[in-house]
Amino acid sequence: MKSEDLVKSNEGPRQPPKKHHMTTSWPFKPRYTWNILMWYVWLLHVLPDLEVPNPPKLPKSAKVPFLAEYKQWLWILPRALVPFAIHRAYYEYNDGKAWSPLMAHVFFGYAFQVYAVICIRKMNDLAARYGYFDSEVKRDGVPDVYVTKIFISLVFVVFFRLFLGMFLFYDPYEKPTLSPWLPVYIFAYAVVLDFWFYVYHRAMHDIPWLWKYHRVHHLTKHPNPILSAFADVEQEIGDNLLVPLLTSITLRPDFTTWFIVQAFVVYTETMGHSGIRAYIPAPATGYILRHLGLEICVEDHDKHHSRGWRKSFNYGKQTRIWDTLFGTARPREESRDDNIDWNHPVSF
Ligand SMILES: [Zn+2]
Ligand SMILES: [Zn+2]
Repeated sequence: MKSEDLVKSNEGPRQPPKKHHMTTSWPFKPRYTWNILMWYVWLLHVLPDLEVPNPPKLPKSAKVPFLAEYKQWLWILPRALVPFAIHRAYYEYNDGKAWSPLMAHVFFGYAFQVYAVICIRKMNDLAARYGYFDSEVKRDGVPDVYVTKIFISLVFVVFFRLFLGMFLFYDPYEKPTLSPWLPVYIFAYAVVLDFWFYVYHRAMHDIPWLWKYHRVHHLTKHPNPILSAFADVEQEIGDNLLVPLLTSITLRPDFTTWFIVQAFVVYTETMGHSGIRAYIPAPATGYILRHLGLEICVEDHDKHHSRGWRKSFNYGKQTRIWDTLFGTARPREESRDDNIDWNHPVSF
């Protein structure tokens, strides 16, 4: 896609900042010139410019490897179960009462943040080994002028999403238990969340006065995992409060189920913004929806970012059910069915 087309497709009621606003030069400048947030992001080892300096470059026709859903489950579940195990141990040790909601918010907020960072690192690791889609074009980094904004967005994700779960479902006297219905909830939550997200996301693209709240997220045409949370404040409220609230009151899981489900949601969000050149179906739903052609994979949301206002497609972020139903799903280019190398599994 030519650069003029990129700018044109991002037109809307309010003009976006110029393209150079996505320039990333600060990671290569002397560290004494960095501010504290730059140091913080650097110390987390999540910067694609530094962690993925020379990704493999492959032509679009080259076959893509695949990553099975069960391998992703085996990676996500143990990491999501650690906070649960600590929570349960404390509950038992403290004679049937866990932390106060405030203390629990601190504990689970920290656990959630650590988990998100591990997800981003994992995606960067895969990108370093398998490269990116549309590999001729350089991936965006963490832009110079948006370091603070991205940091605040990450805090929003951790604070508000967790706050919602604590407020709706946390009870210090409830015994933390794994529900036998957990796999069903993981699937159902992704499908319902995606419905509400589809409606809200498509509205931001189709209704002129709403586009201005989604415009910042679309400044990146080639996203990376850390840009999953890169958005206007209004969108952050929608992403982290409105859509999860509508989903949570539809399904009403217990707190432990809700927290583990969030691990799948965050994983899929970072994966969807990773651009990794591999066929990676969303683990929560892919193993079922793949047989119906309704699963979402990395390339789907990557392609969504290549477009802007009113000319976009692939609005779902957890499945392709609603895009298919409402006629907004578009074919894949590099990870289409006949270009997947089923003899080449991704080493995870
Ligand atoms: Zn969008
Ligand atoms: Zn996005």
